[in-house]
Amino acid sequence: MSAKRAIDLQELLPTVMTGIGDLKATYGEWPVHKSTHADPDQVQAVLSELVERLDDNYPYFHPQYAGQMLKPPHPVAMAAYLATMQLNPNNHSIDASRATTAMEHEVLDQLAAMFGYPDDYMGHLTWSGTTANLEALWVSREIRPGSSILHSADAHYTHSRMGEVLGMPTVGIPTDARGRMDLDALERELQRGTAGVVVATLGTTGLGAVDPLADIVPLARRYGARVHVDTAYGGFFSIIADHLDPETARHFRAIRDADSVVVDPHKHGLQPYGCGAVLFNDQSILRYYHHESPYTYFASTERHFGEIQLECSRAGASAAALWATLKVFPLTEQGLGGIVLPGYRAAQTWYGLLADCDILQPYQRPELDIITYLPRVRSMSELDRVSHAIFEMAADTTRPQQTHLATYVVGPEPLAARGIELERDADHARIMRSVLMKPEHEPLIPELHHHVAMWSRRAYAATHEGAAPASR
Ligand SMILES: *Cc1c(COP(=O)(O)O)cnc(C)c1O
Repeated sequence: MSAKRAIDLQELLPTVMTGIGDLKATYGEWPVHKSTHADPDQVQAVLSELVERLDDNYPYFHPQYAGQMLKPPHPVAMAAYLATMQLNPNNHSIDASRATTAMEHEVLDQLAAMFGYPDDYMGHLTWSGTTANLEALWVSREIRPGSSILHSADAHYTHSRMGEVLGMPTVGIPTDARGRMDLDALERELQRGTAGVVVATLGTTGLGAVDPLADIVPLARRYGARVHVDTAYGGFFSIIADHLDPETARHFRAIRDADSVVVDPHKHGLQPYGCGAVLFNDQSILRYYHHESPYTYFASTERHFGEIQLECSRAGASAAALWATLKVFPLTEQGLGGIVLPGYRAAQTWYGLLADCDILQPYQRPELDIITYLPRVRSMSELDRVSHAIFEMAADTTRPQQTHLATYVVGPEPLAARGIELERDADHARIMRSVLMKPEHEPLIPELHHHVAMWSRRAYAATHEGAAPASR
């Protein structure tokens, strides 16, 4: 063991390439078939073209990319994925993935412990949060055919879309002035007696708002509905619950009482895309997965992941990458928590600067690491114009100076609910939104705020020819 320092992928390549090469060599050499031969010059040219074409992207890896939910995987994850991909195990069956099925069980145990689930939980990795959510909703339909799905109006659109796929009606419950599911509205809907499952989102994709899960659980139970937690984005904030607002933390700690939970290691878990997870806190749901497969499960009597998931083929490399990552960054405050926490602090710091700013204002206090804010203007149409101009100005410069932000669309009522009254000359307007999911964002916040305020002033002037901004 030596002192910690930045690790890059390049230095890890020899270990994984040589290691897997040696492993393959133990089975003896074999001739590669001519049909798979290629002209090396052509291959190099194609790869050069690929690199050139990849230039047509925003710099998701850079802290000045403070837009959508995007960040690169950790080099440990990339190296582990590359090592495993050369063997290409399929975690659908144990026979096709002996080592990586075992690794998947190890990482699932860690995820289950993070959420406080019992030892006899059931769960598996998925290709995405979408399929993970689909599976939890499908189980609730199997338990109670004909029932409906209740989710907040700000929930990810995946729930209404998957409701269509499953033939289940879905109801969007209104949100309060912090973007959280309204409990009175939820109870009114539960009183109809048709709800099969309530979906609580812990970290909405738009605002990072946390639904009041600790209060939703007893309410849903009273009306016989299941509770599913979509914490695809926010799940890893469970590790640092002690640092969050106590009310937010209370809801993260209630995940243990929910029937199922989804988390995306490919969002805050440092993984390449293709890594979601679903967990159920009770194995009795396993009976809904029963199916026969004469061609896949043969050499092992243990349970194969293919028997307990809707998907079939699934990358063993994903399980290996997450396994290696969690060895280096375990699900503790000092481990992965140390990477998640700076983004939370960055959002809180920026919120303070925005609240004191004469040209910008926060939309709401961030519960996680997603911040929304807007210029101080008089009307909806002005808000939309100025926000869009800020977005464009920030990115419209030479590369090292570029800043990439995102926008979020709101109506006049949610603005008014947050004390921001604007002339209603348009139904919708864009505001600004930044996902601060890279720890490198934290030291950048004062400068970022300074620049965004400057662009706001310029954007305002450009759209007003000299008029003064609305006073506070
Ligand atoms: C990202 C996200 C999803 C969808 O997950 P994918 O992995 O993109 O399929 C669902 N719900 C929430 C809250 C999310 O943030």
